[in-house]
Amino acid sequence: MGGPEIDRLIGLLAKLPGMGPRSARRAALKLLQQPEARMLPLASALAEAARAVRPCRLCGNLDSRDPCSICTDPRRDRSVVCVVEGVGDLWALERAAVFNGVYHVLGGTLSALSGIGPEDLNLVPLLARLSEGGVAEVILALGATVDGATTAHWLTDRLRPLGVNVTRVAQGVPIGGALDVLDDGTLAAALRARRA
Ligand SMILES: [Zn+2]
Repeated sequence: MGGPEIDRLIGLLAKLPGMGPRSARRAALKLLQQPEARMLPLASALAEAARAVRPCRLCGNLDSRDPCSICTDPRRDRSVVCVVEGVGDLWALERAAVFNGVYHVLGGTLSALSGIGPEDLNLVPLLARLSEGGVAEVILALGATVDGATTAHWLTDRLRPLGVNVTRVAQGVPIGGALDVLDDGTLAAALRARRA
């Protein structure tokens, strides 16, 4: 259309989550039409983030500090560790502002189908932290999928012998949700997880 630079830009944008060729073309055009206001600030933000942001060596969170700002926050309760699959899950919990402990990012779940075994997960820093003592509870906040459940079972078996209380987030009826739209599995889980 207008030279290899534009094609390359559109090609790279189209690979981003939530973007297809059409939205990539629209985004590229917006950037190209406002180089000073949009494109150069974006380019420098990308370069700066690529340079500065790294996984935290303790928990796997992404931050420009290592250990990350959650691990080093003196107001956080280090005796409770919430295990999540990815940084996106950590962000979701932080947005909800419902958890004041620290996290551990696994970087995936066990998956027989995809050939992902324990050695592919970020486990060593978690086991090291537990063996240092001071952790009373590990909350497994993994997805309600087959792989999430498999991983939760495996972790429970692995962590309980270390003398730590292992709990799992409940599954059930969403807040504001109606019963008759739930799938059978969610409904069954909600019934099993009932409490007074
Ligand atoms: Zn951290």
